[in-house]
Amino acid sequence: MIWEEHASLAPYNTFGIDAKAERLVHLETEACVADYRIHPKGYAQQTLLISGGSNMLLCADVPGTTARIAWTGQHIVRETDDHVFVQVAAGENWHDTVRYTVEQDWGGLQNLSLIPGLVGAAPVQNIGAYGVELADSFDSLRFFSWETGEIQTLSHAECAFGYRDSIFKGPLKDKGVILSVIFRLTKHSHVLKTSYGAIQDELAARGQEASVRSISDAVIAIRQSKLPDPKVLGNSGSFFKNPALPAEVVAALAKSNPTLPQYPQGDGSVKVAAGWLIEQAGWKGKRIGQVGMHAHQALVLVNYGGATGPELWAHAQRVQDSVKEQFGIHLEPEVNLIG
Ligand SMILES: Cc1cc2nc3c(=O)[nH]c(=O)nc-3n(C[C@H](O)[C@H](O)[C@H](O)COP(=O)(O)OP(=O)(O)OC[C@H]3O[C@@H](n4cnc5c(N)ncnc54)[C@H](O)[C@@H]3O)c2cc1C
Repeated sequence: MIWEEHASLAPYNTFGIDAKAERLVHLETEACVADYRIHPKGYAQQTLLISGGSNMLLCADVPGTTARIAWTGQHIVRETDDHVFVQVAAGENWHDTVRYTVEQDWGGLQNLSLIPGLVGAAPVQNIGAYGVELADSFDSLRFFSWETGEIQTLSHAECAFGYRDSIFKGPLKDKGVILSVIFRLTKHSHVLKTSYGAIQDELAARGQEASVRSISDAVIAIRQSKLPDPKVLGNSGSFFKNPALPAEVVAALAKSNPTLPQYPQGDGSVKVAAGWLIEQAGWKGKRIGQVGMHAHQALVLVNYGGATGPELWAHAQRVQDSVKEQFGIHLEPEVNLIG
């Protein structure tokens, strides 16, 4: 374990916010977690657990101890004729893991290429993109309980995955740490999802057939053309969730807004595109001081440089209020607010 006092968290969050951690500990091996749990300045004083910091908005300095997940490693745990089960440590970079599976031609994660962050955080909000979610290729994970110090294996059903949701945002929130994740990947019978977003157009433009690799490459190209790179412009991807509303509410809204993008869900509700609502409310590409909603993707809140957490959150609230006023819809943040 490496300890730092009054450390800047700027290198560890993709908004690039220069919030200070009163104490920052880097957990570099999985074994550190048990030691950290009983250390007097460890878990007893923990206020924040951080991985890649790509899904959080630091609204203030962080008192007490911030623990950073930094252990890595991966190995195949078992294989069948059709599947390979790969266990990946929480501190592995998500996109590097996807590229590793793509290079082996194992199907499952290719649509989730180029999502920032680390593997252990991916189940927390059941990351998703281009018609695919982590849950689609998930087998199980190992979870360390802060209360007991024991490690449990949690199955797919026990993780209670939903849209940008899981048990780790509900009953198990702040109750422990995901140590590693096992993915179930397909070896031969690839089920390739290309119908969502611009994947088919991108493949056609490249003259390529759908394959694990070509889909990954297409997704990377689409994302690079639409989403700001956090290394250049601070952001945390989609700031708000797409709201799921009762079908009759959406039908009424669509009467006065015929171009409203709608996505009917299995449970009878209809999701509407939060980015479209934000754009209609006039916020796309609009900048106030050092903050704004991105010019190519209205759902992405951007730090143009030097903005503080409270400034970014104030802007998000302005957007929330104006969408509420214009459409009567409350936008719920997808990003975790800290402080
Ligand atoms: C440019 C950009 C594009 C993005 N695109 C997408 C997208 O397409 N789809 C999508 O779903 N998300 C997207 N995101 C959001 C983000 O990348 C994901 O949510 C990612 O999984 C967060 O990982 P992280 O390691 O950065 O987590 P962090 O931000 O460090 O943590 C997120 C939450 O998980 C908790 N946590 C972290 N690690 C663990 C652990 N091991 N055990 C228990 N709890 C833990 C933290 O305490 C925190 O509450 C995007 C972000 C950016 C910046």
